[in-house]
Amino acid sequence: MFHNVRIPKENLLNRTGDITAEGTYTSAYKDLKQRLGASLGALSSGRVMIIAMSVVNLKLAVSIAIRFSATRHQFGPTDEKEIPVLEYQMQQWRLIPYLAAVYALDYFSKSLFMNFIEFHIGLIMKDKSPRQIELGREIHALSTSGKPLSSWLAQQGAQECREACGGHGYLTMNRLGDIRNDNDPNCTYEGDNNVLLQQTSNYLLSWLTARGQDSGPMTSPLGSLDYLEGYDHILRQKFTVADVHDCMDSSVPLTAYKWLVCYLLQESFQKLRDQEQSGCTEFEAKNNSQVYYCHSLAIAFIEHTVLQRYHEYVHSAETPAALQPVLQRLCSLYGLWSLHKHMAVLYQGGFVSGEKAGRLVQDAILELCSELKDDAVALVDVIAPPDFILNSPIGRADGELYKNLWSSVLQGSKVLERPSWWAEFCANKPVVGRLRSRM
Ligand SMILES: Cc1cc2nc3c(=O)[nH]c(=O)nc-3n(C[C@H](O)[C@H](O)[C@H](O)COP(=O)(O)OP(=O)(O)OC[C@H]3O[C@@H](n4cnc5c(N)ncnc54)[C@H](O)[C@@H]3O)c2cc1C
Repeated sequence: MFHNVRIPKENLLNRTGDITAEGTYTSAYKDLKQRLGASLGALSSGRVMIIAMSVVNLKLAVSIAIRFSATRHQFGPTDEKEIPVLEYQMQQWRLIPYLAAVYALDYFSKSLFMNFIEFHIGLIMKDKSPRQIELGREIHALSTSGKPLSSWLAQQGAQECREACGGHGYLTMNRLGDIRNDNDPNCTYEGDNNVLLQQTSNYLLSWLTARGQDSGPMTSPLGSLDYLEGYDHILRQKFTVADVHDCMDSSVPLTAYKWLVCYLLQESFQKLRDQEQSGCTEFEAKNNSQVYYCHSLAIAFIEHTVLQRYHEYVHSAETPAALQPVLQRLCSLYGLWSLHKHMAVLYQGGFVSGEKAGRLVQDAILELCSELKDDAVALVDVIAPPDFILNSPIGRADGELYKNLWSSVLQGSKVLERPSWWAEFCANKPVVGRLRSRM
């Protein structure tokens, strides 16, 4: 349709580059990296929004499943007494880590949005300072990994929440199917998650390359690379926690994540170099270094960033003292639960050794789930939208599970009428034995 169509030059989107009347490309950014940084940062808005959308989906799913679990009674220690399914350790372990993830990701999403606003103001004001350029690159790296993390967590969380509601999770009016479906394309649009993560790992690898060069270390205005200054020292660290209560502090997963990012960065860099030395092209080397290396690196990096931001927030003087204990538990649970998925690498690289360490992390996760269980409904009440927006009979705030289900069923269209085919069915009702004479 656009073949031989001329688009007037005034329509050019030319914030970071332009074309003269003679057809020569010009840009205020002389340095190629700076030019890329300015352009990439501007493209981050969609992903920053998708992070927020995924968090909303996870909030909805978790709110429905936890309210349902607190009111649904099933089995019990005695035949006479049934207990809410949230009392079961399995149900707690399935749902409460997602509640913790919602809190941590919500904070990350909102703080990243504010970072993006700051960057955007710089664009509008035509700020060409080195800080503005680095900010664009950093926000790009955070949004290209933040979108995969939040959309995948919402995807897995919505499915877990649906199953956690048993058969009621599949009733359309309870909305869990719609929430899951609505969230799914967040994993694909504005860049497929697996492809996007390569942008973040490239950013981290360029930090390691820049370290050894005269141009000096790469800076991150938002501080997400700051700890890498201690790269060599961090790589020599070990997991030294001795008991479960010490393990329940969010500084434990934070320290482990710093080691994990440094280790995966070192391993990814080495893997790329090995590939190149064995005769692969740069393209092949990149492709063959994604699985277990660059891909895991980008995920560990963003999980660390989310945890670091939330850790600082819950420990800050601005957070009311009365709320800190419960928020710190959420922070620790999010950190340990996410870290637990990397246990094999933590052992493989020698940060963790012995049976006890792995068991401590598991025990700490279970203990935190149990301690948060009694606060779970109140924590959901904080994040859930009003009932008419949540729009799920099993997820209403009053906890009147069966009354709400029943009244929703009764309010369905034509629910108290005979079906349209009833009269026809009665008129032509098959008579038992009528076909026998024909046989
Ligand atoms: C519901 C929906 C709405 C959309 N809306 C819009 C819109 O409004 N505007 C718009 O412009 N676009 C839109 N899109 C398109 C969307 O942005 C693209 O589909 C998305 O970026 C993925 O690109 P693709 O479809 O070309 O996938 P492909 O690049 O063809 O990817 C296919 C598969 O190959 C894998 N793959 C590709 N490259 C690599 C690689 N280098 N390494 C490893 N694996 C790789 C991917 O992981 C993926 O699994 C929308 C998509 C959806 C699903």
